[in-house]
Amino acid sequence: MGSRFLNSLYSNMCPYIPGEQPKDRQYIRLNTNESPYPPPPAALTAMAEAAERPLNRYNDPDCTAITAALAAYHQVSPEMVFVGNGADEVLQYALLAFVGPGTPACCPDITYAYYEGYFQSFALPHRIIPLRDDFSLDVEAFAQAREQVVLPNPNAPTGLCVPPEQIERILAADPERLLLLDEAYVDYGGQTCLPLLERYSNLLIVRTFSKSRNLAGGRLGYAVAPPELIRDMNALKAVLNPFNLSTMAQQLGLAVLAEEDYFRRCLDQIITAREQFSRELTDLGFTVLPSCGNFVFVFHPRLPGAELYRRLKQDGVLTRYYAKPRIDAWLRISIGTAEEMSLTAELIRRLVAELG
Ligand SMILES: *Cc1c(COP(=O)(O)O)cnc(C)c1O
Repeated sequence: MGSRFLNSLYSNMCPYIPGEQPKDRQYIRLNTNESPYPPPPAALTAMAEAAERPLNRYNDPDCTAITAALAAYHQVSPEMVFVGNGADEVLQYALLAFVGPGTPACCPDITYAYYEGYFQSFALPHRIIPLRDDFSLDVEAFAQAREQVVLPNPNAPTGLCVPPEQIERILAADPERLLLLDEAYVDYGGQTCLPLLERYSNLLIVRTFSKSRNLAGGRLGYAVAPPELIRDMNALKAVLNPFNLSTMAQQLGLAVLAEEDYFRRCLDQIITAREQFSRELTDLGFTVLPSCGNFVFVFHPRLPGAELYRRLKQDGVLTRYYAKPRIDAWLRISIGTAEEMSLTAELIRRLVAELG
């Protein structure tokens, strides 16, 4: 409950609950889908240089250099790129701009909790479209929806992804309806829908540096969309927080984006570890959804998600459990280093062995 002064518009606030960061001991953190790898060394040099720019001067409100670099990287014009303080801020501006009383939204029931939290907090009209029993996306239901569509691809926490043809089906079904596509995890094996921007003007794609770019604490995300949509988001940013991206974050982004080989090497290691870990858990009797992310969503018929979460935490491994209908027997486990994953697999092997 808020104070007696709180704007009555916010009486429904329903905060996103980040993964726990307990401080009582050292944990292996497999609960927030961070990268286990640091950003490339060049990022630290860039930070130090940024701090010398002098910091008593304002940062570039237009984020010119990082916007241009992202545009070049994706081969789009800079007018098609919006950068923000993490993908969450980018999502915030996109939802603020494109979802409202006259423009309701829809999203899946099992997905990134930020979307529904946002809709509920600001009492925005929205409809939840359930995933199928096997957690696959009901593409036809989204294609038929009248509301603006908010979807992550790959989805979280399931890790399942759909090919661009299915996303295109949603775009083509109604060109007057916007599709906000969250590609936070696309680098781990999904297929990007960026090329669809050449043919569809109702698509807005959100990306983040927090996962595959090893930069969760640096806070950098961006959107790629037709220029008129980016202009709307920039107009809102100019009202709310014109200097949204610090000098350090802008320089970090530039440096990290330039280290393509490092980026690819980290991705390869995560994907290799994910496949290995998935095989090990499958051998132990788990159902492991085929993941396109840096995490796996797992189920064991005799070891409920809540129990597995609790036991692993006792053993020093944090994972993400959701006490939510349909997925309360499941557990999401982020992919760390190969060593972290073999240790975790070993702990799980012992827990399964205890079942007799
Ligand atoms: C992590 C995540 C985000 C937010 O990323 P930040 O850039 O750290 O704000 C957005 N969408 C999805 C699906 C995510 O998993």
